[in-house]
Amino acid sequence: MAVQKVVTYGHSALRAISKNITDFSNIRSLIDDLFDTMYEFDGIGLAANQIGINKRIFVVDISHTDECESPLVFINGKIISGEGSCVDSEGCLSLPEIRINVERYDSITYEYLDHNLEKHIKVFSGFLATVIQHENDHLDGKLITDYATPADLLKYDKALKLMKSSNVK
Ligand SMILES: [Zn+2]
Repeated sequence: MAVQKVVTYGHSALRAISKNITDFSNIRSLIDDLFDTMYEFDGIGLAANQIGINKRIFVVDISHTDECESPLVFINGKIISGEGSCVDSEGCLSLPEIRINVERYDSITYEYLDHNLEKHIKVFSGFLATVIQHENDHLDGKLITDYATPADLLKYDKALKLMKSSNVK
């Protein structure tokens, strides 16, 4: 168990398409690292590529809401279908200080393995559906800035350039 470094905007790990997990031998320690890191930085969701690991797994904890009291693990997840739409202001541990309005499905049918590697095909709605879609985007190399309006990009131009330059080696 250890807190890992969260990579920020401009880091190539965030743009990589994450690979399905086929070897589950180290899954426990990866899950622990994801939760430890997410809690350390007060996040509600964290995908493996945000700690530089190119695997299709993310964790979510929205137990501060009434929607779901337990922390959740999603492995090899994919969106089967989506319905409706809603817009919410979203933040991201890889984009500190930045908030972008993102349009998401209102509810989704999501296929994944849980922390016990049991397969589920479940319908999620509300805030949890939004968080899952945000994290699933990470696995596909997508960020909230991809939904930014020209006004958002102008507003955050300096912050984004600063993050990008700190990630250029
Ligand atoms: Zn994020």
